[in-house]
Amino acid sequence: MPLTSRRLRAALLATASVTLVAATLPAPEPLGIGDRLFPHLGNPGYDVLSYDISLTYGGSNGKPLDAVTTIDARATETLERINLDFARGSVRSVEVNGRESEFATAGEDLVVDAPSRIPAGTPVRVTVRHTSDPSGDQADGGWVPTADGLAMANQADAAHRVFPGNDHPADKAYFTFRVTAPKDLTVVAGGLPAGKRDHAGTTTWTYRTVHPMATELAQVSIGRSAVLHRTGPGGLPVRDVVPVADREKLEPWLKKTPAQLAWMEKQVGPYPFETYGLLVADTETGFELETQTLSLFERSLFTRTGYPEWYVDSVMVHELAHQWFGNSVSPRSWSDLWLNEGHATWYEARYAEEHAQKPVERRMREAYARSDAWRAAGGPPAGGAPRTPDHKISLFRPVVYDGSALVLYALREEIGEAAFDRLERTWVRVHRDGSATTRQFTALASRIAGRDLTAFFDGWLYGKKTPPMPGHPDWRSGTPGNAGKSPARTPKPE
Ligand SMILES: [Zn+2]
Repeated sequence: MPLTSRRLRAALLATASVTLVAATLPAPEPLGIGDRLFPHLGNPGYDVLSYDISLTYGGSNGKPLDAVTTIDARATETLERINLDFARGSVRSVEVNGRESEFATAGEDLVVDAPSRIPAGTPVRVTVRHTSDPSGDQADGGWVPTADGLAMANQADAAHRVFPGNDHPADKAYFTFRVTAPKDLTVVAGGLPAGKRDHAGTTTWTYRTVHPMATELAQVSIGRSAVLHRTGPGGLPVRDVVPVADREKLEPWLKKTPAQLAWMEKQVGPYPFETYGLLVADTETGFELETQTLSLFERSLFTRTGYPEWYVDSVMVHELAHQWFGNSVSPRSWSDLWLNEGHATWYEARYAEEHAQKPVERRMREAYARSDAWRAAGGPPAGGAPRTPDHKISLFRPVVYDGSALVLYALREEIGEAAFDRLERTWVRVHRDGSATTRQFTALASRIAGRDLTAFFDGWLYGKKTPPMPGHPDWRSGTPGNAGKSPARTPKPE
């Protein structure tokens, strides 16, 4: 149909405004959401609701995986451009609401020009066709090569080295993983199975989370694995993923999980997710990691002789406790990491006390002795110094582990066991499936204790020196000798 002058003018205007958006945009730059420890992590202007991530694994770790990541979000302000966190992969194309879009990289951001303005409050879908490269520097996190495939370790800031997204725990979302791999391999991801399709030579496995998840807690395991099933409290489906050859050897450990779940539920209330289990990977990471519903463990933790049984049990409980503290209730910023690690270390120590007669008081007294040195080395629990460029994981310092469990011990001494237990239960109930701040924790503690604990927390969370321990005026910090070292336990669980 021939164009009339009015329609011609309208068409011209429309092209003018699209070109207008593109024309007026400044040079792309990396953005962040103001996290003091990660200035360029996360992005403003939208709230991710869900990720649908398709990955195709060719069978060797030398070749990048082919991938399509679809992000459904809601604009929280009018957008002409969308910044995503993405690195360590190449981008073939990007679509916004189904329309091909211009994109560029700036630092570790993928900057996408919206074909047309996206009004605040409206839904937006971004589809990125890209690769995902497992061959990067392991110290930076992301994919973890194993003896028979791959796993993920994205904490704290590495999920965007696997897939594009809003890589910050302040923006949690639902996840669907669709992973295609050679037929002889098994794929398990966080969440519940949501279908399996066979093709010639390959299989596509689909998994979906039932609860929102932070990007840093995503887990996908590809390998020659056995999946072992059992039942937890209240009929909770428990599934463990282990190298086929190790299933018998690992069973004595794996069968402990239901009782550990029951013990944690007795402490803080119902398990917050749809399933749980251990991913035992044949790889050396130097840490364990609480990926959501499927915690990552090094095989050697269970197979190497020399680790006392109580110690391995307590590390299992550390990662389990994170499902409540860190996963269901995520840190709003990485300065709140002490809430994750302090709690996981606290329940690890409590479990060792109740099941192996390792008094919490002795461990806390040892921690107190070292606390000043830990604070001098990396800053106080909630006021940690930014990471050093050459030491990426220095965020995970002793002061956020035993140094922060010490804060919880002091709090329990200060407000009493009953109030402390009520605080713990209320915290995970009120902030379930969300992210929360240190200030919210201290405010809740004051409310439950019925008095203002600001001064108490200022000293314990932000003080250069460790305050006196309530009820233990004789405890001293900075005793010479083994100051600064972690209490006798290696390797450090994440
Ligand atoms: Zn941890």
